[in-house]
Amino acid sequence: MSKPTAAERRYTLWLIENPCFACGIEDDTRVGHHFTFVKRAKSKKAKIDEQLCLCHFCHIEDLHRHGERTFWQKRGYTEEQLLYHGKQFYENYLNKGK
Ligand SMILES: [Zn+2]
Repeated sequence: MSKPTAAERRYTLWLIENPCFACGIEDDTRVGHHFTFVKRAKSKKAKIDEQLCLCHFCHIEDLHRHGERTFWQKRGYTEEQLLYHGKQFYENYLNKGK
């Protein structure tokens, strides 16, 4: 995976101020999780809005242990909905302060 740009890093820092998208916790272990279900060429990295905020537990203990598909299915999200939520967060970010 290529390194995030400065703009991507700034966005992720904003994103992880939001509660964990899966469990709602607001601890300091939150990271931006880039969706792995999006089909893209190997050389292409995830788009800036193809991520959601997850806490360490949801991200590592659950999502990466059981697989992304199972993780989201268990919570009733389709891939389309997740992409929509990712875009919504990014739009909110772009609109902040306006
Ligand atoms: Zn969580």
